[in-house]
Amino acid sequence: MGVIADARMQHHYQTCRDESCERFACRVYREGYNDGHAAGYAAGEAAGYSSAHADGYAAASCGEVG
Ligand SMILES: [Zn+2]
Repeated sequence: MGVIADARMQHHYQTCRDESCERFACRVYREGYNDGHAAGYAAGEAAGYSSAHADGYAAASCGEVG
């Protein structure tokens, strides 16, 4: 099982899940990941909201609601 030992010896910033890791690559990657995640979440939320709003508006225009 040398694969597991190698994986532990090599520190990959892509797979690092230690939020307090002080390695430069890990810190930069973590910041970028968090920023990208936040931006993606906001964009997805906005798109989902406008889509749902459009559907609700269309339904209301049909006279089914109100
Ligand atoms: Zn790390």
